[in-house]
Formats: sequence, C-alpha cells, structure tokens
Amino acid sequence: MNHSKESCVFCRIISNDLPSYRVYEDKNCVAFLDIKPVNPGHLLVVSKEHYETITDMPKTVLKEISGVIQDLARKVETRLDPDGIKIVQNNGSQAGQEVFHFHVHLIPRYEGDEVNYLEEWTTQEVSAAEMNRLAGLLKKK
Ligand code: AMP
Ligand code: ZN
Repeated sequence: MNHSKESCVFCRIISNDLPSYRVYEDKNCVAFLDIKPVNPGHLLVVSKEHYETITDMPKTVLKEISGVIQDLARKVETRLDPDGIKIVQNNGSQAGQEVFHFHVHLIPRYEGDEVNYLEEWTTQEVSAAEMNRLAGLLKKK
C-alpha cells in the first residue's frame, strides 16, 4: 500500500489543499473534527510532519502534542459536557489505522451511546452546520 506523504489526506488538510473543521494549530500539530465522527465533537490531533506511526516520531514532538491533547480534552469536557472522553491512537492496519499519518482520536462519550470499538467503529452523519457549530465551540479560547 502507498503510505507516502504525496498521497496523504492529512498532509493535504495541513497544507489547506483539502478543507477541514479545524479547531487548533501550533508548530507541532493541528486538530480538526473527524469527518466520520463516532460521536459529535470527535476530534483528531495530527502531527504537522508526516510520521506514519507513534514510533516514527521524535519524542520531543510527541511530548508537546501530549500537552495539546490534554488542553483539547479539557475543552471537550467543558464545552461539550460528555460523560467521558475516549482517547485512541492506532498504529498499523492490524490495529485499525486507515490514515498512515500520526494522529490521536479524542471521542466524547455519552451514557448509553452504544459505541462499538471491537469491530468497525459505528459512525454518525453530522450536518455541516452542526460541524461548524462544534468546531466554533472547541476553537474558542
Ligand atoms: P484511523 O483509523 O485511526 O487511521 O483513523 C482515521 C480517521 O480519519 C477516521 O476516523 C476517518 O473518519 C478520519 N478521516 C479520514 N479522512 C478525513 C478527512 N478528510 N477529514 C477528517 N477526518 C478524516
Ligand atoms: Zn501525511
């Protein structure tokens, strides 16, 4: 399979070649809403550099991104008021990785939401207007 930077959907989002519902950006990473959310507000935190997996990246970058994950988790908590936040990071196709560019999922969880993690994830249709509203909520300082 071709996992090159040239054909990478996240590299194209980072370079603004493709649109996204972006909520955060700094020198190491960007965060945007997952286009096929498990629940509304499902965020992806993506390294700016094209590292395929967690083992490919410098530890310093991973450490800095970890701090951002905590900041964004706090935002999800206060702005979306979920009952929990699932944080998932897949490496390799056997682990369910579909986009071979390092990213971390932050998934708001709600009591009774019946999300399935064992097989294919259950996803939801969320309207563009709702995606914009959610991105606006999570983007605010
Ligand atoms: P993984 O299975 O961990 O590689 O997750 C890849 C995630 O990227 C999936 O949840 C997809 O829904 C998401 N995704 C793929 N293309 C896009 C896109 N253009 N914008 C936002 N999220 C995307
Ligand atoms: Zn990439």
